[in-house]
Amino acid sequence: MKPFEYSRAQDPAGAVALLAERPDAAFLAGGTNLVDHMKLAIAAPALLVDVSRALPDRVEDLPDGGLRIGAGVRNADLAADMRVRTRYPALSQALLSGASGQLRNLATTGGNLMQRTRCSYFRDPTTPCNKREPGAGCSALEGYTRYHAILGASKSCVATHPSDMAVALLAFDAVVQVEGAAGARSIALADLHRLPGDAPDRDTTLAHGELITAVDLPALPMAARSAYRKARDRASYAFALVSVAVAVAVEDDGTIGDVRIAFGGVAHQPWRATRAEDALRGQPATDAAFRAAAHAELSAATPLRDNAFKVPMATGVLVATLRDLTEARR
Ligand code: SF4
Repeated sequence: MKPFEYSRAQDPAGAVALLAERPDAAFLAGGTNLVDHMKLAIAAPALLVDVSRALPDRVEDLPDGGLRIGAGVRNADLAADMRVRTRYPALSQALLSGASGQLRNLATTGGNLMQRTRCSYFRDPTTPCNKREPGAGCSALEGYTRYHAILGASKSCVATHPSDMAVALLAFDAVVQVEGAAGARSIALADLHRLPGDAPDRDTTLAHGELITAVDLPALPMAARSAYRKARDRASYAFALVSVAVAVAVEDDGTIGDVRIAFGGVAHQPWRATRAEDALRGQPATDAAFRAAAHAELSAATPLRDNAFKVPMATGVLVATLRDLTEARR
């Protein structure tokens, strides 16, 4: 690991001011991803600005019935929060399906959103990778692609986003609060993570020095139920091959009302399945309707050599999750 300077910020404004002066600096929160990258020599910030004591670490009620999650809230604490478990169970389930107990005790909400792909070529500095080194090429295109994207990829990068938490937050229409040198702003989570296009080195729409301070969860309709389902190679401590977060409400006549669906493990960003949502609204809660909705979303998939299985797998996890959530109302 290359030598680096270290500074501990006392508040978000102080942290932002430090990065504004230093293009070679990076924020450090739980460090569960960045420190790995420094050890692997794929990141070498000259200055680490520790924000672990500068960020809010509480979950607060919002006046509209939603929740504000401080960016410093640890993943384990967020998963255990009774308001999250009862009102947004998909979020708690997503968090508990990710990483290990030790990592969840350290990883923060803001850091989870900023984590980078686990594409094995990205993490191997001996192989070409456009995300690590723009213009170098993409080793995955001719390589092993079991874990790679089936939606929204480009010829520059076919990596997937690794977060479980972000998939659930996307389904809940979360809004990210950000502080930067130009002031504070709010970003819909759907607009935070990027598709790769021809600039896969940029994971998000944040500028250098912008710091996530909180994530807001809007209130859900009273009748909505939610769940997160993850398919993976091991029962724990494994990234998603495919995952899905669903929040759905069934009307009195048995048809689908409010529905939100997001997939993980299929694209460079958590993937909001708007075509599937459109196909489901107003339909009866039946397996045939669920399958049609999955097809509406996944017919655009362009699998790679090793990951065509993700299309039927994504169909299966979506159908099973919708079936579970609507069963009592059918
Ligand atoms: Fe790098 Fe993306 Fe290609 Fe992986 S898929 S090697 S991250 S450019």
